[in-house]
This record gives sequence, structure tokens and C-alpha cells, in this order.
Amino acid sequence: MFFLFGLTTREHLQFTRSANCRYCGQHAPQQVIQRRTKLSVFFIPLITLKKTRLQVCTNCGGTSSISGSEQRALAY
Ligand SMILES: [Zn+2]
Repeated sequence: MFFLFGLTTREHLQFTRSANCRYCGQHAPQQVIQRRTKLSVFFIPLITLKKTRLQVCTNCGGTSSISGSEQRALAY
């Protein structure tokens, strides 16, 4: 008997807001993306192992990891 394990990473665009970029300093649309890494068994994602939030600048492409409170601050 054998099991086929793997890791699956998916990204979901949460929202886009205009804000100042911490890299290029421009007031440009910032995408907030949630990235989830899941453990999959026989290609079926079962358990979320890692959850990160990313802020991506649409002007320069600068990507940084943000916390939940930073995400909420961007959302409103
Ligand atoms: Zn930028």
C-alpha cells in the first residue's frame, strides 16, 4: 500500500487598492494576494500548511509579505 503526497500552492487575488508603494514610492494600485500551501494526498488538497499574504505593486512589481492587520488597513 502506498500514498502519494504532495504540496500544492495556490494564489488568490483578494482585492486591489491604490496606496503608496514601499519600493518605488509611487501611488499605484496594490494587489493583495493570499497564498496557501496545502498538503495533498492523491492530488486532493487536504490540510493548509502555510498561509501568507502578499502585497504586489502593479507599477514596479515589488512584492512584500504583509500581516493580517496590514491587509485590513489596506482594505479600508
Ligand atoms: Zn512600486
